[in-house]
Amino acid sequence: MLIDARKLDDDSVLQGDICIVGAGAAGISIALDWLHNSTNIILLESGGFDYSPDVQALNDGQTTGQKYYPLQSSRLRQFGGTTAFWAGMCTQLDEIDFKTRDWVADSGWAFSKSELASFYARANEILNIMGEQKLHHYIDSKYASRSINSNKVWNKLWQHSNARFGRDYRQEIVKAKNITLVTHASVVNIECNSSISKVVSLETKNHSGKTHKVTSKKFILAAGAIQNARLLLASRSQAKNGIGNDFDLVGRYFMEHLEVDSSELWLSKPFDASLYTRQESRLIASAEIAIQEKIQKQYQILNGTVSLTPLNYARLVKPRIQTWRDKDPRKAMRTMLSDWSAASRIVNAKDTSPLNAYQLSTRLEQAPNRNSRIQLLNDKDSLGLAKVKLHWQLTELEKKSLRAIQMIVAEYFGEMNLGRVKLSPFLTSDSSANDFGDLSGGWHHMGTTKMNQDKTKGVVDTNCKVHGIADLYIAGSSCFPTSGSANPTLTLIALSLRLSDHLKRDLSV
Ligand SMILES: Cc1cc2nc3c(=O)[nH]c(=O)nc-3n(C[C@H](O)[C@H](O)[C@H](O)COP(=O)(O)OP(=O)(O)OC[C@H]3O[C@@H](n4cnc5c(N)ncnc54)[C@H](O)[C@@H]3O)c2cc1C
Repeated sequence: MLIDARKLDDDSVLQGDICIVGAGAAGISIALDWLHNSTNIILLESGGFDYSPDVQALNDGQTTGQKYYPLQSSRLRQFGGTTAFWAGMCTQLDEIDFKTRDWVADSGWAFSKSELASFYARANEILNIMGEQKLHHYIDSKYASRSINSNKVWNKLWQHSNARFGRDYRQEIVKAKNITLVTHASVVNIECNSSISKVVSLETKNHSGKTHKVTSKKFILAAGAIQNARLLLASRSQAKNGIGNDFDLVGRYFMEHLEVDSSELWLSKPFDASLYTRQESRLIASAEIAIQEKIQKQYQILNGTVSLTPLNYARLVKPRIQTWRDKDPRKAMRTMLSDWSAASRIVNAKDTSPLNAYQLSTRLEQAPNRNSRIQLLNDKDSLGLAKVKLHWQLTELEKKSLRAIQMIVAEYFGEMNLGRVKLSPFLTSDSSANDFGDLSGGWHHMGTTKMNQDKTKGVVDTNCKVHGIADLYIAGSSCFPTSGSANPTLTLIALSLRLSDHLKRDLSV
């Protein structure tokens, strides 16, 4: 069923069994998991089916620290969420990403990767990508050899998903008898009982000036890592620091993936790089050069991978942090894509001679860091909700890891007599610790409501339930304790499906 909240009577109250806030990758994946049973799901979405500047402006905020994209254009507010814009690059986290590493403070998940295996399989179906086994067969059949492999480095395989949740799942969600999708319903407050141990209702507002309430047995925030933290922090009429924030953890540990051009590889003999260059293989699958677990441990570094781009093309493309500057995500996307296609045109017209060389770019895990965080501003959005400030802060560990990963890959190419690697100036030994070159983020927002069974160390427990609140859950990458270097959407869907299974057991469905 579909309701446009702007057409509902003012002060109406909607009642469900499970109320999900946000119809993006996480929220829709959970809703799909409850299709056609007797549980009454209310799916609240801030936007409608199309882009709306007024609704998109609700994402506006400030950024400080490491240079970042405008917050307004780094997430989409409409049914389907940011998947309307995402690049669809998918790969799983590695086993090491779940482990406690004594050289990475606050690392370690409450469970190992095997806990997510069955949920990754279900997430593959939602994203319409192959399982691991099929993917390996595909790569073996298409590429003669996976040439890069040693005791230091290995091939990490990626797939490209064409999923657009707004386009692919709209009909299924709207037609489901047990699901009520409410568009133009922006949650602005979480109201709890007097002991702040249970949610009583959520308050929603929209631009027609109406306010509504939703009551439910269970509530799930699936609004993205920045908005999940914002909603908890902004619900402070009963708890002065916000809901679930007794230990000052909400909004902290914001993580992104660092994506940065780091060096040049000049080949001395022929090397088939087609598996590693996204331009050629991104439509279905590709690989990046990953660092073996024992080498990460030996060098005490974060997880990261390296991809290759033909240097004559790479030299023509501007860093994304320079082209994605507009607050309107459609314009930011257009500027970035037109920069890429201008470079392709020049290369395809053979205006630049092909070089026997590649740009090596690193995709790096960010270390959990309390001071990298979301906070509320005094300034309010058009629905009266406090805007946020993102302070994106990196540490020396990221810098050390970037340099070490490039050195390890350089050693590999040197030992194989394939060529020589020239580090970018920002990675040479006399560069400053804060110099990260032309660093761009992957638009991956993680942390901010981190998972830990200990309520003094995490906002949610291992079932993604907010500590101390009996019926409030969080879905998405805000729950990640560490980020690994893999793009987050596949894993956040797997984690959301794990939460969904937990609720089925809890509600005896
Ligand atoms: C340009 C770009 C490229 C990307 N490429 C990749 C990639 O290749 N691989 C990858 O893994 N990830 C990629 N990402 C990130 C990916 O889009 C996100 O990880 C994913 O969409 C997060 O899913 P989500 O459901 O948590 O949030 P979203 O998809 O952002 O959905 C959140 C939903 O909540 C709604 N909402 C927000 N606040 C409220 C509120 N108060 N009340 C009600 N509803 C609310 C929003 O309108 C939205 O529909 C990319 C992102 C961008 C911008």
